Amino acid sequence: MSRNRALSAEETEPSVRLSNRGVTRLQARHPWVYRSDIVGADDIPPGALVRVHDARGKFLGTALYSSSSQIAIRMISHGSVADLPALVAERIRAAIAYRKDLVANTDAYRIVFSEADFLPGLIVDRYNDVISMQILTQAMDAAPARKAIVETLRDELQPAGIVERVEARIRELEQLPPRQSGLVWGDKLSSEVTMNGVRFHYDGLEGQKTGAFLDQRENYAAAAEYAHGEALDAFCYQGGFALHLAAKCSSVTGVDSSRPALEMAEKNAALNPRPDRHELEWIEANAFDLLRDYAAANRRYDTIVLDPPAFAKSKRDLEKALGGYKELNLRAMKMLRPGGILVTCSCSFHVSAADFLKVVAAAAQDAHRSLRVVEHRGAAKDHPILLNVPETSYLQCLILIVSD
Ligand code: SAH
Repeated sequence: MSRNRALSAEETEPSVRLSNRGVTRLQARHPWVYRSDIVGADDIPPGALVRVHDARGKFLGTALYSSSSQIAIRMISHGSVADLPALVAERIRAAIAYRKDLVANTDAYRIVFSEADFLPGLIVDRYNDVISMQILTQAMDAAPARKAIVETLRDELQPAGIVERVEARIRELEQLPPRQSGLVWGDKLSSEVTMNGVRFHYDGLEGQKTGAFLDQRENYAAAAEYAHGEALDAFCYQGGFALHLAAKCSSVTGVDSSRPALEMAEKNAALNPRPDRHELEWIEANAFDLLRDYAAANRRYDTIVLDPPAFAKSKRDLEKALGGYKELNLRAMKMLRPGGILVTCSCSFHVSAADFLKVVAAAAQDAHRSLRVVEHRGAAKDHPILLNVPETSYLQCLILIVSD
């Protein structure tokens, strides 16, 4: 044996052994294993690559380790990994290629969706020539992984700027040092995007999520297909649905509790020409109160969109969340004219598709209305649902027509 022989991963990487329950999860092709399912471990540095074994020592693959999260390991490969930065670069290229044929009519879409793109802890969105990235785990935050991420995005997409969006709370939970949001490459922070022919401003350091709710993009176009007459977009944010409806409806009212979101909605409206005499207004209000007041005042609409924030952030909130969805849907149904369109959404992972259908049905019963489901939709295709990983399926969007 040569004295200079490079050490193999087996000799250099720390290893963990899993309980049977942990092994069963991996065999079901879920990438997460909780700390309580680790029955033996070497001394593992935060964010390290670890070799994963069953309790008897059989090798199962390689994972990314977190020293702070309850999700102690996230699988990255069912084999050995010689070079993590090279694997990250390869997976980013694969994620870009995956979207080439699937994504259409937009220059804003998600490029990397964490586990669903086999890159746990990394989110990347494209906003025309500006890329926004979010790093959520210790492993992806390590300098070599960061370098691979930024260089691959730069080389493959040739953007004018790459912005990192930092969620302070997530870094804290992952026990990562604080960091500021800002440019990590290039010099462009803001841009303009076009989704389904509708134009929007984008500012890399402003707004919720990475700037927009890109997961709703295909639902905007679907909603616009059926929309007509007088429309109300509750929880409108920067006007995603409202501006798509504006081309089809005689009037659109957008409601949100966030003033900065409405100011951006107004600016977005100015980017898009509207048919003559079509009215567009923005109201800063609590949508629950406004719907209650409008319903009590016998207001009528032909199209209503409900896209509230996630009511169920954890399983414990489920009952309360279902109550919230029921109330909103009930009020909207009461206000819709016969032939009217209800576009109703839930982005709470803990509210399943079946739960959501049930709660909307219960609202219809209380509202004494008959509705037909014309479409049951989810997130846009650039937010893939990875089979066997339920956490990747979180968005429900029902389009219904009121019969009477
Ligand atoms: N439909 C939007 C996304 C909506 S996200 C789009 O496609 O872009 C949820 C929005 O609800 C956020 O803009 C938030 O500011 C707003 N919001 C949260 N609670 C609210 C409330 N009680 N009343 C009105 N708006 C609310």
